[in-house]
Amino acid sequence: MRIFTASLATETNTFSPMYTDVHSFYQSFYAPPGQHPDTPTLCSAPLIACREYASSNANIEVIEGSCSWAEPGGLLNRQSYEQLRDEILLQLRQAMPVQAVLLGLHGAMVAQGYDDCEGDLLTRVREITGPGVFIGATLDPHSHLTPDRLKASDVLIAFKEFPHLDFMQCARDLVRLAVAAVQREVKPSMSSFDCRMIDVLPTSHEPMKSFITKIRQLEQQPSVLSISVIHGFMAGDVPYMGTQLLVVTDNEPELGQQLAKQLGLELFSFRGRTLPRFDSIETALTLAVQSKGTTVLADVWDNPGGGVAGDGTLILQQILARKLTNVAVGTIWDPMAVKLCFAAGEGARISLRFGGKSCATAGEPIDKVVQVVRLKANAEQQFADSSVPMGDCALIKFDGIDVILNTNRCQSFDPSLFRALGIAPEERSLLLIKSTNHFYQGFAPLAAQVLYVDAGAPYPSDPKRNGYRHLTRPIWPIVEEPFAL
Ligand SMILES: [Zn+2]
Repeated sequence: MRIFTASLATETNTFSPMYTDVHSFYQSFYAPPGQHPDTPTLCSAPLIACREYASSNANIEVIEGSCSWAEPGGLLNRQSYEQLRDEILLQLRQAMPVQAVLLGLHGAMVAQGYDDCEGDLLTRVREITGPGVFIGATLDPHSHLTPDRLKASDVLIAFKEFPHLDFMQCARDLVRLAVAAVQREVKPSMSSFDCRMIDVLPTSHEPMKSFITKIRQLEQQPSVLSISVIHGFMAGDVPYMGTQLLVVTDNEPELGQQLAKQLGLELFSFRGRTLPRFDSIETALTLAVQSKGTTVLADVWDNPGGGVAGDGTLILQQILARKLTNVAVGTIWDPMAVKLCFAAGEGARISLRFGGKSCATAGEPIDKVVQVVRLKANAEQQFADSSVPMGDCALIKFDGIDVILNTNRCQSFDPSLFRALGIAPEERSLLLIKSTNHFYQGFAPLAAQVLYVDAGAPYPSDPKRNGYRHLTRPIWPIVEEPFAL
């Protein structure tokens, strides 16, 4: 059995000024055929799962295509998308005949002229393979589920957990299902239900935690091959933005449809109560100073994982105003400031302007005389099984505050980001990080308290105010009762 596998992924925040091109992929992650490292990335996990499977099954031959991933950002330019897409399509043509094509996708990529990049890619893959070849993909749940994707593929599997710690497991499930389908042991049939809502649905908290447990139990039935919750991605202004339920059965479309609807309506009943408490900056800082031990402050709406710059200063400005000390900030994206720090050298004291440069809403730049404490080229943090590049980083110190400045936009996944620059995070009173929920698993064990801080910007976090122009359906919370219409 010959399996072709490749990956092309990013998450497009169509409201973001951080435009994306082919260099954004080369900078974040790019592996041409045969050059993918042994560790998976979030979206290229199918390739690693294929290698694993082939290593213990002599009848499987894996043909590797290119894998690339760009940090979430603004609209992808047309030529860049077409170049990366066509590279994979050419590799597939050269690899034919194959019995299966397994792609690592994200599912929220939008390019100029393409509001459904993954639907376009899957359709072109199907044109090359023709019917009868298994086409499957893994998706990030923060994606859009479109008719083109469902039509062109046999199985789509989204990560169940948010944080997405189960991405390798989903990739292994996809490979297992692909092999079973090619060997005619199962006949996958996909059914979906449009939940007519958009919300943020962390599975580290109730009610989503129990919902995911229930879904895993349902998957134990032999007729149910896979169940995915497509959370949706509210920063993507595209026609099919919103939450959907996707059920893959073993050739039982009626059961699939019924289950998708039942679970989808249950999910709809959770709307508006899936998030942990979000505090204002003022409340969070008051709680932080009252607490002994380490407080983790998550700047939830300046999370580069959602496509914004990650250079916001709204919370740090207030920390400075309150003269709080023993604070570590990880990270603020500012390639220009990092360059100046590298030029000045470790130990230098310099006047530096940093942060707050990418847009009008994320706070003013900060001007300080700082000490350049540490410089590190190509720093990395860990996330589950993968290493996340932070780029060249500079640790600066002033007024009892340490700030890590980085050059590769990335969200704060794990305390290892502080250790990479020589900071012991558990010794700090306050850790300010930029992440909506992926940080939780890693940071909670060292924290006396974890506070989610709603600074109000720059992510478009209120669907009622985002002013979607391409959305075609009524969805909650823009419409109170979308099923009534
Ligand atoms: Zn996601």
